[in-house]
Amino acid sequence: MADTVIQLHQVESRLYRLAVDLLATVHDTSGFAATMSAFTDLAENLAGHRPVACKLGCSHCCVLNVSVLLPEAVAIAGWLSMHCVGTACAAQLKRLQRHALHVRWMEDSERIHRQTVCPFVDARGGCSIYPVRPLVCRAVTSLNKEDCLAALDPSQFDADHAVSMDTTRKVIMDTAFCTLARAMKQQPMMSRSIELCNGVTAFLANPGLAAVLASGADLPVSLWD
Ligand code: SF4
Repeated sequence: MADTVIQLHQVESRLYRLAVDLLATVHDTSGFAATMSAFTDLAENLAGHRPVACKLGCSHCCVLNVSVLLPEAVAIAGWLSMHCVGTACAAQLKRLQRHALHVRWMEDSERIHRQTVCPFVDARGGCSIYPVRPLVCRAVTSLNKEDCLAALDPSQFDADHAVSMDTTRKVIMDTAFCTLARAMKQQPMMSRSIELCNGVTAFLANPGLAAVLASGADLPVSLWD
């Protein structure tokens, strides 16, 4: 038990030092992208890769609410801007805006019941933003596909089904999320989280907001309305 506590403390300390160092030099979208790349690389290395039941094409859990910190939203928006061109970009922005409006105020139970699938799920059932996916998504795994199907069954969405998962990964990714928020506060930088599509839409529609965030100024509260 003592070992586990010490190791988690060390994990948190490494993530915090890296986040503080990286955030101190950020001025724009590319700075946030580089920060999130290095930060998630470290979190992934610390979390490791144990065998899980999750496979490409299995996106049952991609109906749940996903909260991101603002640097994550900036990095995803930057990645999308680089990977789509012309009218495809405008269409994607519209699709994300529609989804953000649709899921506003929805609890997980309603999203499961209505099967409001994340707009980043691609035609193969994979995550189309996999290299830059949020920390919250990285935290969730399943050791048993049947557990997931039962827990996310829209006809029994209020049933209390447990899903066995890689708890080490869950703890480390949750720690990474909280540690990044703590490092942002220390800058200081706005550390409020935001719903995934709402946040990505904001930075896609207005890339200049990344520099505002980096400067330490607050973003408009209307983003959370
Ligand atoms: S961002 Fe990717 S992993 Fe996360 S819910 Fe959406 S499709 Fe699933």
